Amino acid sequence: MAEEVDFSRERPGDAIVVGAGPAGTAAAITMARKGLQVMLIERGQKPGAKNVMGGILYNHYLEEVLGDDWKSAPLERPIIREDRWIMTADASINIGYNNLRNQQHPHSYSVLRARFDPWFSGQAEAAGAFVLPETVVTDLVLENGRVAGVSTGREGDVFAKVVIVCEGVGLGAGLLEKAGLKRKARANEMAMAVKEIIAMDPARIEERFNLAPGDGASIECYGHATKGLSGFMFIYTNKETLSVGGGALLSEMSDTRLTRDELEQRTPNALMEHFKSLPEIKPLLQGGETVEYLAHMIPEGGYHGIPKVYGPGYLVCGDAAMLSNPVHREGSNLAMASGRLAGETVVHCKEKDSFEEADLREYRLRLDSSWIMADMKKYDKAVPLLEHNPQMMNKYPALADRALDEFFRVDGVSKFDKQKRILRMLRKEGGLRFLLDNLKAARALRIPF
Ligand SMILES: Cc1cc2nc3c(=O)[nH]c(=O)nc-3n(C[C@H](O)[C@H](O)[C@H](O)COP(=O)(O)OP(=O)(O)OC[C@H]3O[C@@H](n4cnc5c(N)ncnc54)[C@H](O)[C@@H]3O)c2cc1C
Repeated sequence: MAEEVDFSRERPGDAIVVGAGPAGTAAAITMARKGLQVMLIERGQKPGAKNVMGGILYNHYLEEVLGDDWKSAPLERPIIREDRWIMTADASINIGYNNLRNQQHPHSYSVLRARFDPWFSGQAEAAGAFVLPETVVTDLVLENGRVAGVSTGREGDVFAKVVIVCEGVGLGAGLLEKAGLKRKARANEMAMAVKEIIAMDPARIEERFNLAPGDGASIECYGHATKGLSGFMFIYTNKETLSVGGGALLSEMSDTRLTRDELEQRTPNALMEHFKSLPEIKPLLQGGETVEYLAHMIPEGGYHGIPKVYGPGYLVCGDAAMLSNPVHREGSNLAMASGRLAGETVVHCKEKDSFEEADLREYRLRLDSSWIMADMKKYDKAVPLLEHNPQMMNKYPALADRALDEFFRVDGVSKFDKQKRILRMLRKEGGLRFLLDNLKAARALRIPF
């Protein structure tokens, strides 16, 4: 017979999950499918109501959590084309990759979290988890040196053998910080991002972005797109809308050495208006109507920014554990995968009937032996590289622009002379610094030669 559980101190559940984003819901599904007593608490009116994401979702990780059921997810368009634009004030160097095989075998889709999250948490509910929306967790309950449960505004205190914290990141102190289990992130470990959802007729989206019906594209823009700040701007095509946004390091947006006027030019809103007004971007958005405006933080602290992800009575997943890879625009997948690994760890604890800190450490070991920590280590120095070398986002794109202008311009100068000019210009203005910066970048990004 199943144990009587009501998440009281006397009859604690197996797990309480805080936050019904990709991390928390993946953890809840993994445990509920194995018959554990799980409560998934979300502060939003419904899951997804408070969430912001570009966003591109990677179906492999959804499948790892749900098996074939992932196919019924409310996804927008499979991404067939990936474009990267390195922009200067009046030119852009575009790298595009069009992969028609993705029509049959997509690995990523555009997604709107306001649609996806309620569906995803519905899968948790269907698996037997108790989903509690409109409920803010105000504190972790600490008893006898361990996290024993959570305090909620609506339901009072609830208790479980493990609390999985998947609260994401925000500007205010989160639950872990409040409980002294995580240090406050530094401004150079966080990006501030904004996003607009712009309504547009599907046929117009397809015509404008040169897509077959139903196909999707992602465009990510660097350099002048963010006024040279460390970050990028994006356009993702949804079924009937565009997701347009981007962000940059918080430390660069709030640099105390700048004047007030200069800082005003760097606010998320100023970056967004600047991006939308660029001559290459404006025509793509023309005729669209902004229906939503959202802002959110992105953790960018790298491997060294990861807090302790397990402790007595608790585990931490997803953004709350600072697991994100801004270089590859990945976060939702690290969230789902870490949530799944945390869920599997708790299932194992339940089988052993032991929920001690030493048992919960299994989660960290699983993370360490997965691609998640391999990627976190690989890109640990990527954000500091841009932060300390602003020339990479402004001077070098401008140099490349001038070299290409010379290369493509047909103006009576012989090709030999043109190539000489280009090399001379690169030597003079880029010089040894340019070569050293390339080596530095290769080393920082741990490119396997
Ligand atoms: C503009 C932008 C674009 C992005 N684009 C992409 C992309 O294209 N691809 C990608 O993979 N990733 C992208 N990301 C990153 C991705 O959104 C995150 O990595 C991912 O959402 C992390 O999932 P999570 O479950 O850890 O946290 P979240 O998605 O933030 O979920 C946390 C949940 O916890 C809830 N919560 C928080 N505190 C409490 C509390 N005290 N009580 C109850 N509930 C609480 C919140 O309401 C929320 O639902 C983007 C992020 C931003 C901001």
